[in-house]
Amino acid sequence: MKKVAIIGGGITGLSAAYAVKRAQQEIDIDYMVFEKSSRLGGKIYTERTEDGFAVEGGPDSFISTKPWIFELARKLNCENKIIGSNDELKKTYILVGNKLRELPDGVMMIVPTKIMPFLTTNLFSWPGKIRMAMDFFVPKKKDANDETLSSYVKRRLGKECLDRLADPLVAGIYSSDPEQMSLKATFPILLEMEQKYGSLTRGMIVAMRNRRKAPTQGSASGASGASGASYEAERTLHMSFKGGMQDIVDEVYEALDKDKVFIDAEVLKVERVNGSDGSITYKLRMADGKIIEADAVIFASPSNDTATLIEEIDRPLADVLNEIPQVSSATVSLAYRKKDVKHDFKGFGFLVPLGEGRKIKACTWSSSKWSGRVPDNDHVIIRVFLGGARTQQMAFLPDDKMEAVAKSELKNIMGIDVEPIHIWIFRWSNGMPQYTIGHLDRLNKIDERVANHPGIFLAGGSYRGVGIPDCINSGTKAVEGVLRYLDNTI
Ligand SMILES: Cc1cc2nc3c(=O)[nH]c(=O)nc-3n(C[C@H](O)[C@H](O)[C@H](O)COP(=O)(O)OP(=O)(O)OC[C@H]3O[C@@H](n4cnc5c(N)ncnc54)[C@H](O)[C@@H]3O)c2cc1C
Repeated sequence: MKKVAIIGGGITGLSAAYAVKRAQQEIDIDYMVFEKSSRLGGKIYTERTEDGFAVEGGPDSFISTKPWIFELARKLNCENKIIGSNDELKKTYILVGNKLRELPDGVMMIVPTKIMPFLTTNLFSWPGKIRMAMDFFVPKKKDANDETLSSYVKRRLGKECLDRLADPLVAGIYSSDPEQMSLKATFPILLEMEQKYGSLTRGMIVAMRNRRKAPTQGSASGASGASGASYEAERTLHMSFKGGMQDIVDEVYEALDKDKVFIDAEVLKVERVNGSDGSITYKLRMADGKIIEADAVIFASPSNDTATLIEEIDRPLADVLNEIPQVSSATVSLAYRKKDVKHDFKGFGFLVPLGEGRKIKACTWSSSKWSGRVPDNDHVIIRVFLGGARTQQMAFLPDDKMEAVAKSELKNIMGIDVEPIHIWIFRWSNGMPQYTIGHLDRLNKIDERVANHPGIFLAGGSYRGVGIPDCINSGTKAVEGVLRYLDNTI
């Protein structure tokens, strides 16, 4: 029986394992998942306490515009665990001049599409608004070369829009520096709209109109194209699971064979063995000294880890993988008794532009955004983000200092000066891949090198999408590649 080894037990590796498991119904194929840490899920981790808090260490949601997580949930029969955000409270604030200012209604990514909210918002100055409106007249770029987010936004909408909107809102998704971020690799749609409509604002307005005209998909099962599912939750832009994002990890694990998923199982190196009969086998050297043989290997590990694993097989490939930067960040979640905190929590939280000179990047009012994160209506959870491309050092503060920073910033910004009843700190060292200028060229080089090693597949957030749905898709796609390859070698 052909064997596929999957390195990494994050959502990419688990999705891949599940795709192999399903393929077993038709093909004789075995799988093994190796995860170096002592738990599965990778960056997805929900801590659930005995007193009823559910705290996200990493992602708190997934975007509902991509189908792959719905498809996975449908196959696992757990669509009924998907929940929407509490959109009756959907407001985002941006800290400008030490005041929380509401993001005006109608902002699509970085573009205001509704006139009145744009005219009346105090998020932008009048010169800033006039500059943004100039987008209608700024000529489109002549060449189709890649560009940084910063250069694009400054060119089309002005610096104030970059500082107050694009940087915290859009670069924030990638924990990135907009001066380095490749627009083609992250938001190619912005470049396409400029080329097609001559103006980003015009393009967004057309996109909105088209969306309104499209048949509505009111539920997540509608989004996935599933039929007959019992799932009723209204589709919101960001969605999660009743028990937190960990639910999807637990559900996939439940569907796998327990004796094929190994934790505390670090792979140190992968070697390629060319048989005299033309066959290719891969040998995984494990930290405990064992050697595992496989016919195909899916590297579902972050690109920098994959570089170390693969360097003996292909040094230039390892070099390109190492060119994808990974940056560090941390989250601090604080739980309070509601009655102790004089704040209405009417919103999902706030973002902090770099220019405000603050030590935190953003703050989510988790218990407003999601139901089921606190034991009852008498508690709140606030989640503070630190680090990212330009302030990575903040992610490595010792616990007491990080806690002090979070509390002092919440006091200054939200006026909270009481002690939390719980604090949770999660650090993500080298946890966020950066799609910087040149990322697409790097991907091409990676593809070229990988093509020299039949049976090797790379998947995960380091390459073509950091979001959880993209990771699931890449894990599933890798398995399609494995099946095609093994089919040809049988
Ligand atoms: C703070 C934070 C917030 C985020 N928020 C969101 C969000 O709200 N929505 C969203 O869609 N995305 C979000 N993301 C991104 C998303 O979480 C990740 O892109 C995704 O979870 C990556 O999954 P993965 O399986 O590809 O990688 P990982 O989760 O990194 O899993 C890779 C696994 O490989 C293992 N591994 C590495 N080397 C080896 C080895 N040699 N041997 C064995 N195992 C190995 C690692 O231990 C790890 O468990 C966030 C990320 C962070 C850090």
